[in-house]
Amino acid sequence: RAKSAGGNRFELADPEADARAITRNGLTTALPAALDRGEFFIEYQPLVHLGDGSVRGAEALVRWLHPQHGVLGPDRFIPLAEHTGLIVPLGRWVLEQSVRQARSWQERNSDAGPLRVNVNLSPCQLTHPGLVQDTVDILEREGLDAQALCLEVTESALIGADDDLLKPLRRLAEMGVDIALDDFGTGYSNLANLRRLPVSILKLDRSFTRGMQQFPADPVDLKIVEGIVSLAHSLDLAVTVEGVETGAQAEQLRILGCDTAQGWYYARPGPPERLHELALVDAVG
Ligand code: C2E
Ligand code: MG
Ligand code: MG
Ligand code: MG
Repeated sequence: RAKSAGGNRFELADPEADARAITRNGLTTALPAALDRGEFFIEYQPLVHLGDGSVRGAEALVRWLHPQHGVLGPDRFIPLAEHTGLIVPLGRWVLEQSVRQARSWQERNSDAGPLRVNVNLSPCQLTHPGLVQDTVDILEREGLDAQALCLEVTESALIGADDDLLKPLRRLAEMGVDIALDDFGTGYSNLANLRRLPVSILKLDRSFTRGMQQFPADPVDLKIVEGIVSLAHSLDLAVTVEGVETGAQAEQLRILGCDTAQGWYYARPGPPERLHELALVDAVG
């Protein structure tokens, strides 16, 4: 052990890193039982149409109510679940809950138009052979139209994707499920490559909207977003922007032609009843 020197010595001298590793190991071991015990829950963040301000649906964001550590965000445990493979049953659970929820919004809220739900997919779920059949089964069992579901896949998961990886996404897209390219702009994908992907929505990463928090916005950021929006629209892709925190941002993004927005300016992620209220208020007045 002493021979493998440098790295180890450094690690041992850093008690905080040790503590983090211990927590990480503990969380990893606790994951499977947490799923059985029902410690996960989902918050929903509204997706708002920039043209008229109406709520069109929501993104499902998973959280873990850990008995000792309290509420943990997905960044704390999704990587661990990906590493152990638990992401497959966990992701299926998130999909099932979200589809059921969307169905229930639609039943309770027929005035507001068909509310849709966005669900995040990990790269491991993409390569899992059951993805398409599980999705078909869940939609059928819960009675939701495929058109009301959007699956979000990060740009980095699809960089260099071969046909085997794209096949399940193509089948889902043919069924009417929307595929969104999440965190767009953070990877380094070839823009021409977009034509090859079965996606219908670009979700522009928060880093692009940050420069628009003030008025007037950063002119370079404006130019970049303007370029992406026109490219997306010319390829028949809709543009959703994430991380909208101010009214000035929302207004700039609307002027630039973005279609849908998501962010704290509208609402933080919250319980499913909250979305129902927001959409209803919207439909009534
Ligand atoms: P994402 O898909 O890009 O989700 C958006 C993240 O931005 C969410 O963080 C959301 O709470 C946050 N956010 C929304 N509006 C604003 C805003 O105005 N300002 C700022 N500063 N942040 C905002 P969250 O909930 O921590 O989720 C983090 C990531 O975890 C998600 O990023 C997604 O990639 C992943 N994730 C969440 N749920 C799932 C899931 O069920 N399955 C998988 N595979 N990944 C998930
Ligand atoms: Mg997402
Ligand atoms: Mg995103
Ligand atoms: Mg993001």
